[in-house]
Amino acid sequence: MTLEKYSIGIGDRFGRQGAAQLDALLRAQVAGVIITPVWNKSNREHQIIGTTPSDTRRAADQAVLGRNWSGKYFVDADHISLKNVDHFLDACDFFTLDVAEAIGQLPDPVDLVAFTEAQRRFIGRLTIPGLDANMDVTAAKLEQVGNTYLVAVQEAARLYRHIAAAKGTSAFVAEVSMDECDAPQSPLELLLILAALAAEKVPVHTLAPKFTGRFNKGVDYVGDVEQFAREFEMDLAVVRYAREQLGLPASLKLSVHSGSDKFSLYAPMHRALKKFDAGLHLKTAGTTWLEELIGLASAGGEGLTLAGDIYEQALARFDELCKPYATVIDVDQRRLPAIAEVRGWNGERFAAALRHDERCPHYNPHFRQLLHVGYKIAAEMGGRYLDALAQFEREIAKNVTENLWERHLRPVFLGT
Ligand SMILES: [Zn+2]
Repeated sequence: MTLEKYSIGIGDRFGRQGAAQLDALLRAQVAGVIITPVWNKSNREHQIIGTTPSDTRRAADQAVLGRNWSGKYFVDADHISLKNVDHFLDACDFFTLDVAEAIGQLPDPVDLVAFTEAQRRFIGRLTIPGLDANMDVTAAKLEQVGNTYLVAVQEAARLYRHIAAAKGTSAFVAEVSMDECDAPQSPLELLLILAALAAEKVPVHTLAPKFTGRFNKGVDYVGDVEQFAREFEMDLAVVRYAREQLGLPASLKLSVHSGSDKFSLYAPMHRALKKFDAGLHLKTAGTTWLEELIGLASAGGEGLTLAGDIYEQALARFDELCKPYATVIDVDQRRLPAIAEVRGWNGERFAAALRHDERCPHYNPHFRQLLHVGYKIAAEMGGRYLDALAQFEREIAKNVTENLWERHLRPVFLGT
């Protein structure tokens, strides 16, 4: 199975906004850019909401049917491991093999020797087209990469073979993710990881490295944008080289697990994609649910009351909601508006605090991040929340489509 040049992670917590998201991709199509949708939902999300991968499959199929989407689309088993992959086998055709936990585990000495022997060809001064400087590869560096990443690569291979045995090798796209770990991978490490994956015969389609800087959920990048831009370009050069030299799939590309809304990185990413004529998989987080809240609040009346109720409970259950996301959010409790203040807001004011628009003086990233992890409360409301989604569908869909098209697809894939 092949994955097109551009793809994006979509989907939403409650499986109601697929069609509105496809509308944004249809706008991109009209503008001349084909972007393949990949419905992604992690095990953590399924557990918190109480859904299963087959619910995601159903939401995707329905949206595709409803919008006559004629292109490809996928359903991603996002961040799975051997422990939970079985649960995703039937419903998914894209698997994000999360091997971050195995990073840093020391390999069997025999395997390490085999790795360093197999990759000896890289030792010396390595010239990679598109890179400004050569890479110096030493035997010590090979050994260090083997000691850090070989067990993770072997884990990816085990997981890949497990899925392939169940579904057949051509029935799915394989992504390897190493983003949820402590240290970023350098471009040279990326190259050696790809070489090791090729040696293990894992036909990886997308690789998600960890980049430098913070990728908090639902808010902008925190870090040195220029450094990111340099690193991203180097990674693209390495991926192109790996594709040409290592026998990996011709569609191999980077996957950026953005956590959504890395607006300050979008322009440098677009420039780099053009420069290298490279593909990209952009994985987003579940911020579509925040567009639902914005739509509900903007609708006023019952919708606004419901949004306020969710915030009130989120404030009361702050620790519980934030704990599963502790490493990927930075919420300062002192910057959260009091519930009495929020109850006095009209819909527009609530939406302005929540909507990710840094130019708006009312935008509050702390408010946004807390609500981002507050979807558990909406899930617990069950029918009341889902009925409101149906009742205020028009207002919500407008926000979902606009957000995806204006703030994400245009800057990343069209450069406008
Ligand atoms: Zn990730």
